[in-house]
Amino acid sequence: HLNNASLMARREAAIPRGVGQSHHIFISRAENAEVWDVEGCRYIDFAGGIAVLNTGHRNAAVMEAVKSQLDCYTHTCFQVLAYEPYVELAERINAKAPGNFAKKTLFLTTGAEAVENAIKIARAHTGRSGVIAFSGGYHGRTLLTLAMTGKVAPYKLGFGPFPAEVFHARFPSALHGVSVDDTIASIEQIFKNDIDASRVAAIILEPVQGEGGFNVAPPELMRHLRTLCDQHGILLICDEVQTGAGRTGTWFACEQSGIAPDLITMAKSMAGGFPISAVVGRAEVMDAPGAGGLGGTYAGSPLACAAALAVLDEFEKHDLLQRSRDIGQRITTSLRNLAKRHSSIAEVRGLGAMVAMELCKNGDPHQPDAELTKALAAEATKRGLILLTCGTYGNVVRILVPLTADDALIDEGLAIIAASLDTLQP
Ligand code: PMP
Repeated sequence: HLNNASLMARREAAIPRGVGQSHHIFISRAENAEVWDVEGCRYIDFAGGIAVLNTGHRNAAVMEAVKSQLDCYTHTCFQVLAYEPYVELAERINAKAPGNFAKKTLFLTTGAEAVENAIKIARAHTGRSGVIAFSGGYHGRTLLTLAMTGKVAPYKLGFGPFPAEVFHARFPSALHGVSVDDTIASIEQIFKNDIDASRVAAIILEPVQGEGGFNVAPPELMRHLRTLCDQHGILLICDEVQTGAGRTGTWFACEQSGIAPDLITMAKSMAGGFPISAVVGRAEVMDAPGAGGLGGTYAGSPLACAAALAVLDEFEKHDLLQRSRDIGQRITTSLRNLAKRHSSIAEVRGLGAMVAMELCKNGDPHQPDAELTKALAAEATKRGLILLTCGTYGNVVRILVPLTADDALIDEGLAIIAASLDTLQP
């Protein structure tokens, strides 16, 4: 009979330790916002497969779309024999992306691949090589995206050297005293110290940093960056791999700052659990690479395209964008109430249903408490709730619950967070 401990032992013997595992749990079944492990224990899922399940585990409409697709064809490679779902998905994403200009969309398989391709496209269009990313940013595990990722341990350790011409500006944080002006000044400094603005192809940021700790880019930063990019002929790229597909209350988070990036990357929740990613952007920019310069064997798989179309339908049918805003309110209110009796909660922040709390020692926001964060996640697991942590100092608890979860289930999960913290810090 299968149990978690024996499966963990087999896993450790067969799989490299570099593939981490935040919870020592093996799953046997999942439904919407709940999962059951091989020992029959039930958990509420506030992780959503790291922001992949905005429409829930095994969403019925997504399952139906994939089953129909299975009955027709599963793979041809789009560059060999094309299929309509890829084209329809591109048309629908083009229509959703902000900006009053013609757009085109490219499909790939993973978030990192989308980011890599956005940089390739930006370089091909501008004829420049430089990339400016941000401290605390996360863009993936390939060598170029690692170069762009603004956190060393554990991602970059032992893997260098990384591709050249990638620089990091400071990401703003009101809690830690980094203002939007400081951020802009740090970019001007890169132009002075490292690379001339005329050689920079792109500035890339997450509208809300995901792995970095759910740090929200203030709208005035987005507007500043848009102006700065226009001044210097630099492309602005929003990495919406984690924020996209409705997580923040709009389909793309960048919509809320009123600016239109030149390129947007997305992945994760766009296909409800099936692997697909996208780059959407200005048609003339997207057309810069020559024929054959873009693609991939599995890129834009028919099964994932069918799933992604069903996800778009589900958002419209159930107004999941409004639901995202409502869930965000509910979680924020609950965590702010909890903060009233726990000075260890330095801040509750987020956008829409992308909400996190940062934990500190001695009520001092500048003393990150990674140990408490880890202990809280472990205590919650014991009580039947799957939580994820993040942040440069590992001291942020983040919530990425499916938007299809009902209020009762969300409240049950929030009550477990409160009970866990009360137990750890009576
Ligand atoms: N960009 C962002 C903002 C992400 O959050 C992630 C994944 N956490 C990635 C890129 C990389 O995506 P993937 O793991 O699918 O390659």
